[in-house]
Amino acid sequence: MSVLAIAEHRRGELRDVSFELATAGRELADATDGDLHLAVIGGEVGEFADRLDREGVDVVHTVDEGEEFNHDVYTQAVAALYDEVEPDVLLMPNSVNGLDYAPAVANRLSLPLVTDAIDIESDGVLSVTREKYGSKVETVVEVDADRAAVTVRPGEWPPAEGTNGADVREFDAEIDESAVRSTVTGFQEVGGGDVDITEAEVLVSVGRGIEEEENIALVEALADTLDATLSSSRPIVDNGWLPKNRQVGQSGKQVTPEVYIAIGISGAVQHVAGMKGAETIVAINTDPNAPIYDLADYGIVDDLFDVVPALIEAFGGEPPEV
Ligand SMILES: Cc1cc2nc3c(=O)[nH]c(=O)nc-3n(C[C@H](O)[C@H](O)[C@H](O)COP(=O)(O)OP(=O)(O)OC[C@H]3O[C@@H](n4cnc5c(N)ncnc54)[C@H](O)[C@@H]3O)c2cc1C
Repeated sequence: MSVLAIAEHRRGELRDVSFELATAGRELADATDGDLHLAVIGGEVGEFADRLDREGVDVVHTVDEGEEFNHDVYTQAVAALYDEVEPDVLLMPNSVNGLDYAPAVANRLSLPLVTDAIDIESDGVLSVTREKYGSKVETVVEVDADRAAVTVRPGEWPPAEGTNGADVREFDAEIDESAVRSTVTGFQEVGGGDVDITEAEVLVSVGRGIEEEENIALVEALADTLDATLSSSRPIVDNGWLPKNRQVGQSGKQVTPEVYIAIGISGAVQHVAGMKGAETIVAINTDPNAPIYDLADYGIVDDLFDVVPALIEAFGGEPPEV
């Protein structure tokens, strides 16, 4: 089974999902001794190709078209590359950009599209695992077609490592400029913030247990002391205490940090949907029966207003007055 996966970059940087797609693609290709093709469209394609040449990648295709993501260019380029490579499975990131062009590509190629995969297998029939009902259940979609497109959830596969001397090929997608109706005029972070919590290695996350907006300064001080990034559950954002781009969860962002410290967060299913992929979860909560303790690796059953200042001091910081 041959696989074509599409890498993603933003503001000159390849995103982690590009390397995760390489792992997912390799696993799938291995199932039937097939080839893995990885493609990058736009930006510094030569430099990106060097970085994308990871273990398991047979061919890296570069499409030198534009600097940043453009819906029309990506749709045309991916479809043209698909016609060239003729893969059995087309993998794209289940990211904001991926979800922008994947349906258009699938439609153009008349491919069935399964989105937000957390596992993909093939024993002749392609099976894609997805989550439903706020991550309460997993469902397996069996694709009744010879060829298919799948978007892959970021953070579910480990990134491919190493290098292996893949064949790097330049591909001329012959973009029809008259069909490019959108242009990129600039880049603006949603929520006005400059922080991307999905990239953070350590997240200090605050929930309704913090009680008052003024008390956010306490967890902010812990985040500063640990050189971590501040995130939150939804009520904190709904109250306007932190911007939307800090919200973890089903209607917020999915994060996969090495360490996630949940402070005064109960662990509602919609919150857990966004953070259960964290490597190590630490919970601070007065309620020993809070659902967050079902998945926490370490728990401190105590008042956050005692625990957080003590942690700040233990890590060499100075707790603020709240
Ligand atoms: C469609 C939909 C989408 C949603 N999307 C999201 C989402 O993306 N993200 C999200 O987070 N939620 C989301 N929610 C809301 C979700 O259901 C919960 O309401 C929310 O996660 C609860 O936030 P919390 O844990 O901060 O607050 P609570 O559930 O109120 O929990 C507060 C916790 O703090 C503890 N606590 C209180 N005082 C202290 C103290 N002094 N010290 C230590 N611990 C203390 C309590 O024991 C409690 O466990 C969504 C809901 C719906 C319906």
